[in-house]
This record gives sequence, C-alpha cells and structure tokens, in this order.
Amino acid sequence: MRIVVVGGGVAGLAAAHRAAQLGAEVHVVEQSPAVGGKLRTVPLPSGARVDSGAEAFAVRDPQTGEPSPAFQLAHELGMAGDLVSPQVSRAAVLGSGGLEPIPAGTLMGIPGDAALETAPFNGPLLAAGADVAVGELVRRRLGAAVVERLVDPMLGGVYAGRADDLSLAATIPALAAACTEFPTLTGAVRAVLAARPKDTTPLFKTLGAGLGGLIDALAAAVGEDRIHTGRPVRELCRAGRGQWRLTVGSTRDPENLLADGVVLAIPARPVERLLANVAPADLKLDYASVALVTVALPEAALPEYSGFLVPAGGRNHIKAATFLDRKWPHLRRPGRTLARVSLGRFGEESVLQRPDGDLVEIAVADLAAIVGTPRRALESAVHRWGGALPQYAPGHPARVAAARASLPAGLALAGAAFDGVGIPACVRSGRTAAEAVVAAVEQSMA
Ligand SMILES: Cc1cc2nc3c(=O)[nH]c(=O)nc-3n(C[C@H](O)[C@H](O)[C@H](O)COP(=O)(O)OP(=O)(O)OC[C@H]3O[C@@H](n4cnc5c(N)ncnc54)[C@H](O)[C@@H]3O)c2cc1C
Repeated sequence: MRIVVVGGGVAGLAAAHRAAQLGAEVHVVEQSPAVGGKLRTVPLPSGARVDSGAEAFAVRDPQTGEPSPAFQLAHELGMAGDLVSPQVSRAAVLGSGGLEPIPAGTLMGIPGDAALETAPFNGPLLAAGADVAVGELVRRRLGAAVVERLVDPMLGGVYAGRADDLSLAATIPALAAACTEFPTLTGAVRAVLAARPKDTTPLFKTLGAGLGGLIDALAAAVGEDRIHTGRPVRELCRAGRGQWRLTVGSTRDPENLLADGVVLAIPARPVERLLANVAPADLKLDYASVALVTVALPEAALPEYSGFLVPAGGRNHIKAATFLDRKWPHLRRPGRTLARVSLGRFGEESVLQRPDGDLVEIAVADLAAIVGTPRRALESAVHRWGGALPQYAPGHPARVAAARASLPAGLALAGAAFDGVGIPACVRSGRTAAEAVVAAVEQSMA
C-alpha cells in the first residue's frame, strides 16, 4: 500500500509517521527546500539557535489533563526527556497604566466573574451546532472593553486575527459547547474552567535544542529517502484501479506519482486547487501574515512576565513580545536580553511591507517604550511568515465537515487549515488522517 502525504509540515510528517507505523509505504512530497513548515530552528549571527516559527507546544489537553498528541509523539520519538519547561509562564497585557497580568479565572481573556454580566439570556446562549464570532458574543454579554482589552489581544497572540472575525466553535470549542447549555457567558466560562483538572505544572514546553529537532526526528523516523523536497504537487486526479495520480514538480518538467491513498496536509488554497477535479470544496479560509523579530539587547531588568500582548489600535506597532531568555533559561547568555517580537495582524499587514531593518527598529523602539529596554540591538533576525495563520470564520467547523463528507475514501485532509493551529491539534489531525486513509485502502484491497 502506497500512501502519499502532500505537505511536510508537522501535520504531514505526523501523518507519514503514523502511516509508516501502520505498515504503509509512505512518501512525503513538500514544495519548499526543507520540511517543517512553521517549525524551524535557525541560528542567530552569534550562533545561538532560536525558533523562527512556533516556539512551544501544549504537553497536555487543558480540558482533560491527558498527554497531548504532540507530547505523545515526542515520547514515541524518544524526545520526552528533552522537553524543557518555562521558568516564567505568566503573560501580561498592555493596559493604560502599563503591563497588567492576564487575570486569573479567564478563558482566552473572557472573564468568569458573574458580576460583570447583565441578566441571563432566556435559554442557552447558543443553539446546538450554531457558531458565532467570539467578539460578537463577548461584546453582547460583557461589553466592548472586555473584547478590546483582553479577548482581542489574546486571540491576536495565537491567530494574528481579530475577535470579531474568529469563530467561537473553532477557537474555543469547549466554551462553544458550554454555551449550548448555559444562559450566561460567565457561567459557561466558569463551567469550562471548573471541569479542568488541577495541574499547576507548565502547560507549554519546548525542546532545549529547538522545535526543529522534532521535525528532524520525525523525518528520520519516516526515512529521509521517503521525503521529497522542492516538489510542489500541482494536480490530483483519479487513476485506474482506485488509485490516485499526483502531478508533481515544475510545469516544464512534471512527474506523475501513483498512490493508493493520499493525505493533503497543506493550507486551504492549495487544498482547494488539488480537490478541484476530485471533490470541489470552498473552505472560505483567509490567512494572516506575521513577522517575528528576534532581537538581542544589552541586558536589562524586565518585569516578571514571560512576555506581553498589545491591544490593537494603540500607538505601538508590535502585537506581542516574548522575553525569550527569561521564559526559557537555556537561552540565557550573560550581558544580554533576548526578546521575540511579533508584528502584523489580519487586515493590518501594511507594517510588514517595510524592510527588515525598519521592523527591527520598530521592535526595539516599542520594547523600549513599554518595558524600558535599551534602544540598541546587539543582533537580530527577522522571519516573515506570509499567509501563515488561518482565520477561522464562524461556521468553519461545519465547512470542514462538509468538505470531508464529500471526499472519496482514501483521501484525507489534515493540518492547521482544518482542525486547529496548535502543534498538538496538527499532530492529532495528521495521525487521524493517516489512520483513516490506511483503513480505507485496506478495506478496498480486502
Ligand atoms: C509565527 C508562528 C508562531 C507559532 N507559534 C506556535 C506555538 O508556539 N505553538 C503552537 O502550538 N503553534 C504555533 N504556531 C502554529 C503552528 O506552528 C502551525 O499551525 C503548524 O505548525 C501548522 O502545521 P501544518 O503541518 O498544518 O502546516 P504547515 O506548517 O504550513 O506545513 C504545510 C506544508 O505544506 C507545504 N505545501 C503547501 N502547498 C504545497 C503543495 N502544493 N505541494 C507540496 N507541499 C506544499 C508547505 O511548504 C508547508 O511546508 C505558530 C505559527 C506561526 C506562523
């Protein structure tokens, strides 16, 4: 049985790893020169290695306390012992008087304090299966200030998107489910938080040598000879005997690959292009672009936070900052402070059109204004992620379910376009897709 996985990000590699575990001959076809997608560890000019994309992952499901799929994968790859915990986990948000801790008892910034809410709705807040923009619901129940000061910056930190555009069901599914039972939003928040197991150990961890190590270990487990980089997949169609034909490579020099099963672990637009001949889908999914500036500054005293979020609409250009070497002690070097600053929100990408040097200047100036760090970069690196973060609009889970329902057996979708942006969600999505494709092919061959 030959399975082709299109896309060598963490979802595609997790799919390939699972398909190989299940006995398939698996091939990963990746358009860029290297696998990893949004997981990439790079050297700074001084040689220090930092993550230029994702920097950490949740090691457990906060709702159930179960080890997350990403932790399980790290464990299977023999890397659980390489995971390191942050020294400081608490983040802040920039308020009118400076940095303020993200209040306890909130869920993605939504408070559970009943005193903040007007009268209960006359029934559950959401009908079963319904969806709503997070901003719309929170504004209606708790007022605009909660959205602007807390919820919007928190969602912006994860999705580089705006609360008014993002689906409750896709971004905070546990809360969406509770809203189908409770007549108040604060009651739903409290119920979700109360259901969580008490665990004070850090939720997010990283690999001491960078998350690129997870990609290297996955690629080695799949087999380097099974991974084909620099090969865009341009077309997918049915071949004879229930097989699939993929057209791979440049338009001038295309190559055909035959497969018994296919996992598409790529963003929404290329998925829609590849499905055009097979099971046309309209996922209506936009993407936000961001830039990350990693900057070393002369050592400075910093507040006891892992970093901070910046509400939109103020005079600062940056969206968020992480005090990298306060959060992760293994990155600490004497005489310097290492920070990672993120710029760019969905619909406000003009700042990203500036050259790298300007982005570094903006990052250094905003950090200086907010936390008083020196206005001098010792070294810096700018990483641009164009069209990187999916903006799940209300109704996203239903659109994904509809796209999946129309797929022929032996073809599956995985990754951040479908099941959540977090690394654990991408790993789970890849593994589930691989299991479904392998099972379908086995059945067709029986
Ligand atoms: C800046 C940034 C920071 C983040 N930080 C975190 C974090 O700290 N923790 C966390 O959990 N998550 C984080 N995320 C989210 C997370 O990293 C991503 O959602 C996840 O890595 C996506 O994995 P994926 O495999 O679905 O997609 P991708 O990583 O996008 O991989 C898809 C791959 O498919 C390839 N491809 C596309 N089209 C084709 C084609 N036609 N043919 C062949 N190949 C193709 C692409 O080149 C790419 O390599 C962050 C994301 C970004 C952008």
